[in-house]
Amino acid sequence: MSKKKVLVTGGAGFIGGNFVQYMVSKYPDYDIYNLDLLTYAGDLTKHRDNETMENYHFIKADIANRDTIIPLFEKVKFDYVVHFAAESHVDRSITDPGVFVQTNVLGTQVLLDASKHVGVTKFVHVSTDEVYGELDFDPTTFFTEETPLQPNSPYSASKAASDLLVRAYHETYNLPINITRCSNNYGPYHFPEKLIPLTISRVLNDEKVPVYGDGKNIRDWLHVIDHCSAIDLVLHEGLNGEVYNVGGHNERTNLEVVKTIISTLGKSEDLIEFVKDRLGHDKRYAIDPAKLEQLGWKPTYTFETGIAQTIQWYLDNKEWWEQIISGDYQNYFENQYKLN
Ligand code: NAD
Repeated sequence: MSKKKVLVTGGAGFIGGNFVQYMVSKYPDYDIYNLDLLTYAGDLTKHRDNETMENYHFIKADIANRDTIIPLFEKVKFDYVVHFAAESHVDRSITDPGVFVQTNVLGTQVLLDASKHVGVTKFVHVSTDEVYGELDFDPTTFFTEETPLQPNSPYSASKAASDLLVRAYHETYNLPINITRCSNNYGPYHFPEKLIPLTISRVLNDEKVPVYGDGKNIRDWLHVIDHCSAIDLVLHEGLNGEVYNVGGHNERTNLEVVKTIISTLGKSEDLIEFVKDRLGHDKRYAIDPAKLEQLGWKPTYTFETGIAQTIQWYLDNKEWWEQIISGDYQNYFENQYKLN
């Protein structure tokens, strides 16, 4: 039997990178192709170990470039596509929405066309709970797969648009797809513009930590490895055309998250600086993962064990995040937060 060929788009980013590592070691009999444009959010240093593995391959390409993508699919004939590549940061989508439409919407459409053209066995579209909009603070309410899509940021709107295209390719062309909608991830190799790695890296450097508004917005956190196992399960067992929500019931306010990191690192809460709130800041996200649990998924980390593992990883891998925050990132940070 020939080896399965798995295309992972965005495999130089945070979640895609962890997924590539997970797949390369779990499935030595699969060929894993990491396709990535290497934007500011992508880096290949995380794949140094994979580069020595025979079943790991890297392709530098733009998912929105049809002239590259279609011939690539014709040549390699992928069995599975797991699609992570995206512009992923809400704050950047507020200042520059255009590239979000280009990559997240048009890029997804090119991949769908290519997948239909060669007849892939499964296309898993990795999406986000942010497409559902926001919940109020009633702790008994959750996003289910039936919750209407009401995205509030240009980022989540571009993801919702791509979700609808993926759905339409199933309804119209019978393309075998699944959509996963996961809550906020954290873990190793998370780019330090996002709340958890931003807080860890700044606290370790005894620098002020910006917190939007009153810090009471709630996110539902999931360790990235638990997201990877969910996608693996959906890829192999998901029913064609179905959406699966992914989350581990770990709701925390942003302020609670920041305070947990500060106390774990033995630093002072004086490092917290409240800053002007994000425009259109969603109040609360919370996932009901019952449908995925019925498929057989269970997370392995609680928030407490996951955050402890993640903080330790940032302590052990300073070199990785220090080279990121020393470059263009500084300009981005200063423009974004304008700290006192
Ligand atoms: P990330 O920003 O860390 O990585 C995105 C990757 O995509 C980068 O390596 C980048 O170089 C690549 N990329 C960007 N534009 C590209 C293009 N035109 N062609 C090819 N590659 C391109 O993002 P992430 O946090 O790892 O998120 C991955 C996916 O998971 C996204 O689709 C996101 O919407 C979704 N998601 C993220 C979260 C989260 O908490 N981070 C939660 C749920 C879903």
